[in-house]
Amino acid sequence: MSPQPFPLVTLKPKKEQSLKRFHPWVFSGAIHYIDREPEEGELVRVVSSKNEFLGIGHFQIGSISVRIVSFDDVEIDNNFWIKKLQTAVGLRANLGLFNNDQTNVFRLIHGEGDGMPGLILDYYNKTIVYQAHSIGMHHLREQLARLLKEVLGDNLVAVYDKSEKTLPFKADINPKDGYLLGESGQTIVKEYGNSFKVDWIEGQKTGFFVDQRENRRLVRDFSKNRDVLNMFCYSGGFSFSAMQGGARLVHSVDASAKAIELANENVKLNFENDPRHEAFVADAFDFMRDIKDKYDLIILDPPAFAKHRGALRQALQAYKRLNAKAFEQIRNGGFVFTFSCSQVVGKEQFREAVFSGAAISGRSVKILEQLNQPADHPVNIYHPEGEYLKGLILYVD
Ligand code: SAH
Repeated sequence: MSPQPFPLVTLKPKKEQSLKRFHPWVFSGAIHYIDREPEEGELVRVVSSKNEFLGIGHFQIGSISVRIVSFDDVEIDNNFWIKKLQTAVGLRANLGLFNNDQTNVFRLIHGEGDGMPGLILDYYNKTIVYQAHSIGMHHLREQLARLLKEVLGDNLVAVYDKSEKTLPFKADINPKDGYLLGESGQTIVKEYGNSFKVDWIEGQKTGFFVDQRENRRLVRDFSKNRDVLNMFCYSGGFSFSAMQGGARLVHSVDASAKAIELANENVKLNFENDPRHEAFVADAFDFMRDIKDKYDLIILDPPAFAKHRGALRQALQAYKRLNAKAFEQIRNGGFVFTFSCSQVVGKEQFREAVFSGAAISGRSVKILEQLNQPADHPVNIYHPEGEYLKGLILYVD
């Protein structure tokens, strides 16, 4: 087969090693020259300094210049993308996530983890929310929406593009959120039997934090007869899990009034008139100033404190302070579920921050379990950066 007529990106000598180990990013510093200037989002062919084929990927201006979509020299056509989608659908089907009457919300494409760098697809009861993080995936939106319909058939009624805030703002593409296929409005989804109203148009991220499903379920198992504080509750996921598990009392806290409104609505959906639940609009650090001996299960699931490397030190400080507050005040024999979803904060760094928080509190703190992202957020073994969610279950006495 003759090479496809993509612009040719030639790497500097010895810069091919990571691509040979299937890491899908080419950094700008590794590039020797490009034979003709590609448009942002265009496919390019990457070769070593000795002209060996390395991969085909989407070009973009920035520190990551190319995101590889194929390490094989194949035609990048509808069939190529269909195979990728089928592979991802196959994994979720094997995980029992399709036609499941308890759970109908999950991640269908997790970027590099599914061999599609720059793309997130979340599945909400037959509606997919499409979130492009690269210009290449933005350009593919209509084609992929059509192919998704081909692959999913009756399991898909609509695809909504929500990429305005996730695409590089400097790129001259002027993205607009909107339906790429069908139209579905908001929907009620189910996760382990709990119902949630999801509003992808107004809500945070793609509308829901799909990645905490298995950890929310674990909370359920730890909640019986406990007084629970769900800090950073968003639409209330951990709160219903705790109520489902027999919590005595559940307090949900979030700085966003919209989030609290959503959490209250969702409580109604699942536990109408249940006096065990109360929700508060408050800043986490303010709320936690005085909670001494009030709770015996505290969940800390803050937003990504560090969105880039520059913010790392400050983020670690924030994790330390937040966890210290919980350790200092939780009842004896209490459990803390603590999380970090910052990609730039490594597992060890997070654990050290939590360790420092424990040391400040002076309490005895034991690690019971280590938590991570669920199986529908797979980590490509050649791209460890894809592992972003980490958590600990701790016992404090
Ligand atoms: N645990 C949630 C997801 C949490 S996302 C779930 O299972 O769905 C993080 C949440 O933290 C967001 O809803 C955001 O509004 C909230 N938040 C951000 N900064 C905050 C602060 N300083 N105090 C309280 N909440 C905050």
